Amino acid sequence: MLPFKLVYSDGYYLPIGAHVFPAEKYQRIRARLIESGIASANDFVSPQPASDQDILLVHTPEYVRKLKTGTLSAREELEMEIPYSPELVRAFWLAAGGSILAADYALNDRIAFNLGGGFHHAFPDHGEGFCMIHDVAVAIRRMQRDDKIRTAMTVDCDVHQGNGTAAIFAGVGVPGDLLPSAAGPTITAARPAKIRNAHAGDVFTISLHQENNYPAWKPPSSIDVDLPDQIGDDDYLAWLDNALSSGLRQFEPELLCYIAGADPYREDQLGGLSLTIAGLKRRDELVFRVARARDIPVMVTFAGGYARKVDDTVTIHSNTVLAADYALNDRSAFNLGGGFHHAFPDHGEGFCMLHDVAVAIRRMQRDDKIRTAMTVERVQAVSCFCRYPRKSTSSQKPAVPQRSR
Ligand SMILES: [Zn+2]
Repeated sequence: MLPFKLVYSDGYYLPIGAHVFPAEKYQRIRARLIESGIASANDFVSPQPASDQDILLVHTPEYVRKLKTGTLSAREELEMEIPYSPELVRAFWLAAGGSILAADYALNDRIAFNLGGGFHHAFPDHGEGFCMIHDVAVAIRRMQRDDKIRTAMTVDCDVHQGNGTAAIFAGVGVPGDLLPSAAGPTITAARPAKIRNAHAGDVFTISLHQENNYPAWKPPSSIDVDLPDQIGDDDYLAWLDNALSSGLRQFEPELLCYIAGADPYREDQLGGLSLTIAGLKRRDELVFRVARARDIPVMVTFAGGYARKVDDTVTIHSNTVLAADYALNDRSAFNLGGGFHHAFPDHGEGFCMLHDVAVAIRRMQRDDKIRTAMTVERVQAVSCFCRYPRKSTSSQKPAVPQRSR
């Protein structure tokens, strides 16, 4: 049995016909987790669909009305890149309900998964790139509305930039003066307890993505890392490490929403990065370990994954569950400072006055807690261009130094 919950429903299946998006992946992930013994049936919980009020915490009344009445324009449907149907609307409302439930569980159990969701290309007023409703944003706004959290951070490791996330939490395109009470007659939403923009600036967005890929227009996240084509495991992990460290120096989230796309995989049909399955698992472990070191609850969604073999996509997503299990059970701990490895017994060098690691080892030995130890030093290899901050969305955020090539 896992030490966290997996939110899942057969209703996550997206009725989109033959499509590059493997709509059956959710069922297959569930089956794999059980067959491999990673999870048991008791680890799964079923979500309820989000309410219209929940959806309206993020999306505009006009857009929600169009979705519920089947009145999207041909262009709007084309932009969404999945064929509209009332069943599809139900699947997205359910995915959003799943992310709300997973966020709730994460706040109690430190980690929870929505085995779906991660629809990070949805904007307040339209859908894009296979995404109708931004389930993660809905979950964050609902947690804030219920006063369960004040702040959140999104860490988006899908190969495509989280354009919807960036737009929603930067306030771009959010009609702050429109309240759900302005909805059409088919929507019975009550006015939410708080105005949607009340928390603008309370959500810090990080996106690591391939620069030369959809979306062409990338609205600024709090931190965007534009990765070059074909970047491999080690460089990717170094950049993720940098982005997480930088983000968590600037911002203290009460919930971390990890958008764990499987499409940075080297065999992905819609991606152009070169991560291996093992590298993607290390990516997951890094996110969970950093969050655990700071005691930040993590809610996971799966987003994209278009490997030539659907089985690989299923493996990558299943590994994310495994990585979370390791992270909660492992015995590692972090000192978020220290590492002053240039200090000598009789003098300091290179910004290092005292050798904290050596002191810690000798103290453990003196106290007979250990006899031996090993030090492993990692040098980060960086070879890509990171552009941040392009735009500050909060006056609380101090500026970070500009990085250069
Ligand atoms: Zn993607």
